[in-house]
Amino acid sequence: MRPNDETHNALNDLLRRQDRNGKCIWRTVGDNRVRASHAALEGDERSWVQSPEPGEEENCRCWAEVVPEIVIRKNACKDLLQNLRIERSTLEGLTNDLSKAIAKHNPALKDWQVAVKKYKEILIKYIQDASSVADPSKIGVLGTVAVLVFEYPEVQAAQEKVDAAKDRYIGIQENIAYLQKQIDQVIKEIKKLEKDKTDMKCDELI
Ligand SMILES: [Zn+2]
Repeated sequence: MRPNDETHNALNDLLRRQDRNGKCIWRTVGDNRVRASHAALEGDERSWVQSPEPGEEENCRCWAEVVPEIVIRKNACKDLLQNLRIERSTLEGLTNDLSKAIAKHNPALKDWQVAVKKYKEILIKYIQDASSVADPSKIGVLGTVAVLVFEYPEVQAAQEKVDAAKDRYIGIQENIAYLQKQIDQVIKEIKKLEKDKTDMKCDELI
């Protein structure tokens, strides 16, 4: 058919009216008079509602090749299956991360408990030392000062270890909660995609 004649335009109009949700492929006549912006669109899959439509602009000889519904459905299924593969591999990664985080959970809790125990021991020692120097007449003022100077950094260091162990433990707990939330979302997405797959009868198409 000669592009840009009455029949050609009428046919394009008819196709547009027929299936506004359908798809078409932009085709050019392929000679050197095709404007560059349209030559760039050659072979592109477009929806009918996308503007401009082939043949719509002045002196445009481009035309729309109808994409059969079965091809549209097949392509949609391919995209869906690809998304399913991506989501499933994401789920696998997240599940591995969760196992690793859970494996770290109990040792981290134990580390924290050990740090607390050591801190308490040091604190008790410090308090005993402090009470033994409560009476400066026993070891003198200098002795009291020495006890405080030498013992206090030890208490502080033990306290810092407790804080670090606690932060690490809380970090692991937060990571576990975050991963569980992500996993829930991915599972929800997979269920949705699987339902779409059934609804779209992808197993019959591909
Ligand atoms: Zn054109």
